[in-house]
Amino acid sequence: MSNATSYELFINGMWRAGGDGATLPVINPATEKVFASVASATTSDLDEALASAERSRKAWSSRPAKDRGGILVAAARILATKMGDAAKDLSREQGKTIAEATGEYARAVETLEWNGTHAEGLSAPIPLGSNRMIVPEPLGVVAAFTPWNYPAVLIARKLAPALAAGCPVILKGAEETPSAAVRIVEALRQAGIPDGLVNLVFGVPVQISRHLLSSPIVKVLTFTGSTAVGKQLAKLAANNLQRCILELGGHSPVIVCEDADLAKAVPAISEYKFECAGQSCNAPSRILVARRIYEEFLVRMTETARNIKIGPPDDLATEMGPMANARRIEAMQRLIQDAVDRGARIETGGSRLDQPGFYWPPTILTRVPKDAKALHEEPFGPILTVAPFDTIEEAIEEANATEFGLAAYLFTGAANAQQKLINGLCAGAVSVNYLKGVSADAPYGGVKQSGYGYEGGEQGVRSFQILKMVNGLGSFG
Ligand code: NAD
Repeated sequence: MSNATSYELFINGMWRAGGDGATLPVINPATEKVFASVASATTSDLDEALASAERSRKAWSSRPAKDRGGILVAAARILATKMGDAAKDLSREQGKTIAEATGEYARAVETLEWNGTHAEGLSAPIPLGSNRMIVPEPLGVVAAFTPWNYPAVLIARKLAPALAAGCPVILKGAEETPSAAVRIVEALRQAGIPDGLVNLVFGVPVQISRHLLSSPIVKVLTFTGSTAVGKQLAKLAANNLQRCILELGGHSPVIVCEDADLAKAVPAISEYKFECAGQSCNAPSRILVARRIYEEFLVRMTETARNIKIGPPDDLATEMGPMANARRIEAMQRLIQDAVDRGARIETGGSRLDQPGFYWPPTILTRVPKDAKALHEEPFGPILTVAPFDTIEEAIEEANATEFGLAAYLFTGAANAQQKLINGLCAGAVSVNYLKGVSADAPYGGVKQSGYGYEGGEQGVRSFQILKMVNGLGSFG
């Protein structure tokens, strides 16, 4: 499949180099040194992937859904036995701690298993009254583009439902973090997926997406990444009217009401925010706190953030590793400088650690003016803004004052405040008194500029199906 230092493409059931032998470097973000390479696909590699996916389509879609699910469950079990080594590889190329990488693989395993277990039920005809039914059918070849922040679980959330629904997949893994894609595809190969059904490519993202989406073979585009790239891909997909599932950016608010239990809220926010060095689309990034408890919250939050142990991701004592790449460091510098230039105050953090590696400490900004970029651009890093509010209505208005609408969080025990906030917050997911992200059994998707379509649960499988309506069963005319 590949050795420790060179990851390969998987096309038509074979691990191999790209057609012209070109490779891209893989960098360890803790050292900034290249330690591996990944094969880069040529246009003819992509054509071969398209042709082999199309060839495998009919046999897979007509195979009993229970068999399809069985292969996913078998792949989940195989992957589960490799989690120790897989987590080390992921940690080395992404920068997340070993514990975080292990937790991510556990979620990938759960996702494969959930979709495998539900493949049969979600492929079954759905009766509508006495003489009508809905017949789910696979939509066809899927182009799946996945990012570098959670490469294991985000791949599982695309591959597993597509395969459960009966669709072949051409997966573009993230070039910066290739090992998770290779591990998951290898688990599927060992579990017995037919040749050509899953193809894995890496390369120059813009060239790969342009080429794949220009093909009428591809029927579905599923992408996780930035809003800007999501829009470019949706435009390309419009030419062939490919169905789009777009999981894009977020800038999630947390509303902390007067009655919130700060002893629980502060550690919960800190843990969720600084996981993966804040590089998560649903990480909280703007905290709004009831004015009466604002000072106490700020003291506790700042203290907690300051005490997070930053270090090499393979050190078991480390609580937060480096950021994944130099682009994120530049983004942190730019957002913080802009906020400070406009009058914001840095409570903790604020500048890169003076050592090799892309290390940026937890940073808390207060008094951030409303027009500061930090309140509007997705930070995708360990930056939190904290501001007071006076009324629930004001908190809702502030919380909704970005282009994004992915996740929102609130802390209050008061039922009427909970209801007002749940109703008023413009987000695909709202969590009350704890912070929760995606799960295998539930739909997750954004509103506004955070994208459209759903991953997860029943809706995640339906995203890859045609719902064929059959009318007048058993009647004549
Ligand atoms: P980016 O937008 O260039 O890339 C994001 C991901 O999309 C990468 O994995 C990249 O390989 C892929 N990509 C880029 N251009 C592509 C194309 N034309 N076709 C197919 N895939 C393409 O930015 P980046 O610097 O890698 O990440 C920065 C921003 O991306 C962040 O600020 C964040 O907003 C967003 N992002 C979001 C998520 C998420 O989970 N929603 C994940 C990663 C990145």
